[in-house]
Amino acid sequence: ASAALLAVSLTACGQEARGGSRYRPDRGSGGTIGIAMPTKASERWIADGRNMAEQFREAGYQADLQYGDDKVENQVAQLENMIAEGHRLLVVAAIDGSALTDVLQRAHDAGIPVIAYDRLIMGTKNVDYYASFDNERVGRLQGQYLVDKLKLGRPRRDAGTSYRIELFAGSPDDNNTRYFWNGALAVLTPYLRSGQLVVGSKQTRMNQATTLRWDGGTAQKRMDDLISKNYGEEKVDAVLSPYDGISLGIISALKSAGYRGADLPIVTGQDAELASVKSIIRGEQTQTVFKDTRKLAARAVQMGDAVLHGRKPEVNNTTDYDNGRKTVPAYLLKPVSIDRSNTQLLVQEGYFTAGQLR
Ligand code: BGC
Repeated sequence: ASAALLAVSLTACGQEARGGSRYRPDRGSGGTIGIAMPTKASERWIADGRNMAEQFREAGYQADLQYGDDKVENQVAQLENMIAEGHRLLVVAAIDGSALTDVLQRAHDAGIPVIAYDRLIMGTKNVDYYASFDNERVGRLQGQYLVDKLKLGRPRRDAGTSYRIELFAGSPDDNNTRYFWNGALAVLTPYLRSGQLVVGSKQTRMNQATTLRWDGGTAQKRMDDLISKNYGEEKVDAVLSPYDGISLGIISALKSAGYRGADLPIVTGQDAELASVKSIIRGEQTQTVFKDTRKLAARAVQMGDAVLHGRKPEVNNTTDYDNGRKTVPAYLLKPVSIDRSNTQLLVQEGYFTAGQLR
């Protein structure tokens, strides 16, 4: 259904109303906004793109929404086209945060402002603003959930019990990955030091735990491997997973290894994707982090509209997002932890209908 909707909205934002060079408040006359999203393989990006396209249109612009199919060269080519077409603003969720330096130099030379969407764009001065969630907090919510669910209490060496955990990280080329990891590990490290948590595989460094392009199949293979090499009689009690697609891959591996129902470890996640929320309701995945993509899209549209009118967009963080060339002014939204006890929140917020969760 979302693919069909997308096709409709894409045809509805053709180039016909172009021409008038100055902003006029009638529909579509504000010029075209280039929206470059990473992939349609995950629901969230489909929703992000659709929400932004709709909201930019409501604000009087046209929207050119493109998906890079998780291939860096596609995304670069799409951005090059948007620049060549004279789009007024680029909103980019990067596939590889460090691969856009050249193309964004071109955008800058053409006077086109750039907003980094959800993922910071690295190594360039040519990114004006950043709209995202508090990414460190996402990781903290995941880490704290594991600690609370295992009832670890305060870290102490004489606790007498220890739980076995495995750690997964996101894609190494996504700047968010280290924020999620650092947030989670800030909570978990005292328990790893006290011995209340033990990483069965001993793979405790982020670069041992990353999952290229956030791919669920890749995570499933790693989990298969971790189980077969490190777990026999002993079971894994908890898995730190940074993203729902990875969580579902991990759960498939656990099920193939014979874990069922109450045997399944606590598994975290992120994005409140429908399949994962259903898995949580079934009692398989344990937790996810809800990031309301409608609110993020609204933020990016507000920022873009302000920039195009020569106003300063509202930001709430001017210190934490240094991309190596500049500290990018950011607006960060609040993520919310979801488990079986509060999936109804997603219905109350209108993110899903009650029927979808049944
Ligand atoms: C986003 C997450 C998402 C992940 C995989 C990250 O950059 O912040 O919300 O789970 O990419 O798509």
